[in-house]
Amino acid sequence: MKQANVTLFHPLQDRICDVLLPSSRIHERIREVAAEISRDYEGREIVLLCVLKGAMMFTADLMRHLEPPVVLDFVAVSSYGSATSTSGVVRIQKDVEEQLAGRHVLVVEDIVDTGLTLHYLLANLRLRNPASLKVCCLLDKPSRRRVEVPVDYLGFAIEDRFVIGYGLDFDEHFRNLGYIGVMEEESA
Ligand code: 5GP
Repeated sequence: MKQANVTLFHPLQDRICDVLLPSSRIHERIREVAAEISRDYEGREIVLLCVLKGAMMFTADLMRHLEPPVVLDFVAVSSYGSATSTSGVVRIQKDVEEQLAGRHVLVVEDIVDTGLTLHYLLANLRLRNPASLKVCCLLDKPSRRRVEVPVDYLGFAIEDRFVIGYGLDFDEHFRNLGYIGVMEEESA
């Protein structure tokens, strides 16, 4: 069979201008965060709530290092806006399936930027009366915050740059990268 002699690449690939966090650094930090969570939740079951789609890789890697019993669930939220910024209007696209009342819920997010998405989600989850509600976030851009949200466990605080990879996308691409890269700003 004739093989097409082409290299497949994403047209925006050359806009990944920097590796911010190599895979080894991410995994090292995840083990530290998981140890902290395991200590805090000792003797209790965690309902781990992965916020789709961005936090799926982080959740998968984090949960394999957690020692307490874990029940996994997913929630998908969409925030209206452009590909690189949030409008603040949030909608639940796929709701939680577990009953949360009386349980220890740990929300796993990819990145907190303005905080609007998480603020909305936490307010919604609180109405279901969990015994506790905490947040574990891989990345935080503190300089962009518009509303205060509690981040109980954090991977890395980063500068205000648009990042992709390790679950995070640009227009649904690059989620499969094993590292976190920085996307060059579009020149005007
Ligand atoms: P917030 O509501 O905190 O402004 O935004 C949170 C959501 O915006 C994240 O869950 C993520 O989907 C998206 N987001 C914010 N900053 C970035 C970024 O630098 N890269 C990517 N890929 N998504 C981001």
